[in-house]
Amino acid sequence: MLSVTEARERILSHFQIKTPEQIPLADSLRRILAVDVKADGDYPPFDNSAMDGFALRSADTSASSLTLKVIADIPAGSAPTVSLQPGEAARIMTGAPLPSGADCVIPVEDTDFQNRHSGTPAPKTITLTKQMTSGENVRLRGTDMQMGDLILKTGRRLKPQDLGLLAALGIAQVHVYRKPCVALFSSGDELLPVDAPLEPGKIRDTNSYSLAAAIVEAGAEVIHLGVAKDDRESITALLDQAAQAQADLILSSAGVSVGAFDFIKELIEANGNMDFWRVNMRPGKPLAFGAYRGTPFIGLPGNPVSAFVGFQIFVRPVLERLSGSMDGGRQTVRVRCVEEIESDGRESYLRAVLQNQNGERWAVLTGHQGSGNLLSLVQADALLIIPAGVKCVPAGSELEAILL
Ligand code: AMP
Ligand code: MG
Repeated sequence: MLSVTEARERILSHFQIKTPEQIPLADSLRRILAVDVKADGDYPPFDNSAMDGFALRSADTSASSLTLKVIADIPAGSAPTVSLQPGEAARIMTGAPLPSGADCVIPVEDTDFQNRHSGTPAPKTITLTKQMTSGENVRLRGTDMQMGDLILKTGRRLKPQDLGLLAALGIAQVHVYRKPCVALFSSGDELLPVDAPLEPGKIRDTNSYSLAAAIVEAGAEVIHLGVAKDDRESITALLDQAAQAQADLILSSAGVSVGAFDFIKELIEANGNMDFWRVNMRPGKPLAFGAYRGTPFIGLPGNPVSAFVGFQIFVRPVLERLSGSMDGGRQTVRVRCVEEIESDGRESYLRAVLQNQNGERWAVLTGHQGSGNLLSLVQADALLIIPAGVKCVPAGSELEAILL
């Protein structure tokens, strides 16, 4: 049986980063940059005021009299043409360009100009209540970014603040990698839709929802194919639909173990190839990888926790590679386990909550670890990894955990 690492590497070797496309800036949140972005100029593009106040020459404020003549009014958005001479000042608003001759801005509250209601005309003169030094309350051209600076790197997942910065640079169309696309289906005669009342022997289909959401969370698109019955015709129909959809990956859950009604493996073998179908892990040993009519295929186990864990370990890295993301996958941390843990020698992923104690993180298992128990997964904030070959982990041991 393959180890988790071997299986993941074998899967990943079949996927390449996608081609770039251009999309409107407003649609680019969480998309992956396909180019390095450099500053095309200096930002801010001109020296400007950081305050509402008066622009002046700091040298004028060392004299015994601090009264200056106000010769201009400079609102934000204007381009001043005046040049300040000794003894002169200009009223200026935050963000407005500094007039030539000025080297500082005194805030309005440090002057005798007390009438600050909107619409008040500039005074003829002002008297300062303090001396000023050069550069005070001035935002110099290029203090944020300078021409040619590398601002954002290829592979970055764009955040809201990045969109603001791209707007500052005038980038209306952003080069990003195309989104990966996954054709998803569940399988099993026992599965009911979410809005159906329970019937004897039936359960509701949960994997369609958790897996679709995990695909979206990973930045990919889902083609929902629904639920296949446990017969060859029904599964073939959905596999054919998936292959025609030109998805990057066909993802299914259930029907890949050795049950009498598990036909998926057989159908993949007949119409493509099966690379492997078992991995030395828990939960989720039956995990199939191959291709169906030319489209890569991953068959996750049916048990809801196994399907979810299998997705995190094998499918998410595929989607990250396809999307060009440099995020580096889910974060892992070192933790200590509170209790002794027994294992069966397979690489195990156990549901746990993490608690901070004296600067260390401790992992406590969440309830029943059966692979059908979704609640203990929902209660967990990490998957604790018990390495392959380990049968017993003493309490207090250090282990790695994947943050969920
Ligand atoms: P199988 O791999 O078909 O043997 O399924 C293993 C277990 O997972 C069985 O208990 C199934 O009822 C359950 N299961 C399979 N698919 C789903 C699903 N989509 N939602 C919830 N449970 C499922
Ligand atoms: Mg089944």
